[in-house]
Amino acid sequence: MSVLVVGTVAIDSVETPFGVGENILGGSATYFATSASFFTDVNLVGVIGEDFPAEHIEFLKSRNIDLRGLVQESGKTFHWKGKYGFDLNEAQTLDTQLNVLQTFSPKIPAEYANAEYLILANIDPSLQLEVLAQVKKPRVVACDTMNFWISSKPEVLKEVIAKVDFFIINEGEARQLTGEVNLIKASRAILNMGAKNLIIKRGEYGVLLFTNGSIFAAPAYPLESVFDPTGAGDTFAGGFMGYLASTGNLSEESIRQAIVYGSVMASFNVEDFSLDRLRTLKYSEIEERYREFKRMTHFEQI
Ligand code: AMP
Repeated sequence: MSVLVVGTVAIDSVETPFGVGENILGGSATYFATSASFFTDVNLVGVIGEDFPAEHIEFLKSRNIDLRGLVQESGKTFHWKGKYGFDLNEAQTLDTQLNVLQTFSPKIPAEYANAEYLILANIDPSLQLEVLAQVKKPRVVACDTMNFWISSKPEVLKEVIAKVDFFIINEGEARQLTGEVNLIKASRAILNMGAKNLIIKRGEYGVLLFTNGSIFAAPAYPLESVFDPTGAGDTFAGGFMGYLASTGNLSEESIRQAIVYGSVMASFNVEDFSLDRLRTLKYSEIEERYREFKRMTHFEQI
């Protein structure tokens, strides 16, 4: 089954303690789609401006991503500028220029209206609602967001949360959204908003899944060389949804496996700037790291 993603396609400028990337490819939909494309077919809905380099389009096409829903408008592409200190779990936004996103109204091509797997990647929650209204009967809807939208549009965001199967958020944002410091309390508050399941990303400390009254905790892959954490959350979500869509199995066991595939994808992505590590990644490397995850977390019964 294919996955439909709506989110940002961006030009980023990123600074980490290990280097600087000026005007590099970024965006929540870009990271998500590229990551999911290792598992299944991906349809992308988003907007770019006239300045968007053709080589980036060629890259997305080379990943077999269907771009019929990617529109080009006059004006500039969405631009995000961010910085990381030595705590790579926390991005500091220096500048957000919405540009063509300001007037964007997503139109889901007729061919995608029956999508079964839908990811509302990080974008204005009003646009996430518009997309939900156009996709007829999705089997699984996942949604991501960030602090920018939690502070600017909390009420619209809560409307979205009430309609999704998996709400994916990082720990700082879970605290910001709920006002709860404790993550168990925060998870309860978010599930009370109506999300069926909740995934809390904890950067280098891994991921928590809250589902059906149970909790699953996965560590992050212990990496020695992290260069740029940008897009870790989106590549996680891409691996997660891509794997679920490829198997069509929504059992708790399969959801847990999807969490680990998501974590594997995020661990590769942070090894280089922008999407550069994903450009050379091979499926065999994904499988090998998945097996390492299994070895690393396995322990015997009592
Ligand atoms: P992540 O590190 O997974 O949270 O995602 C990083 C990507 O999100 C970057 O490539 C940015 O272009 C994009 N981004 C940054 N701010 C926003 C925003 N307010 N809305 C949507 N996407 C954003």
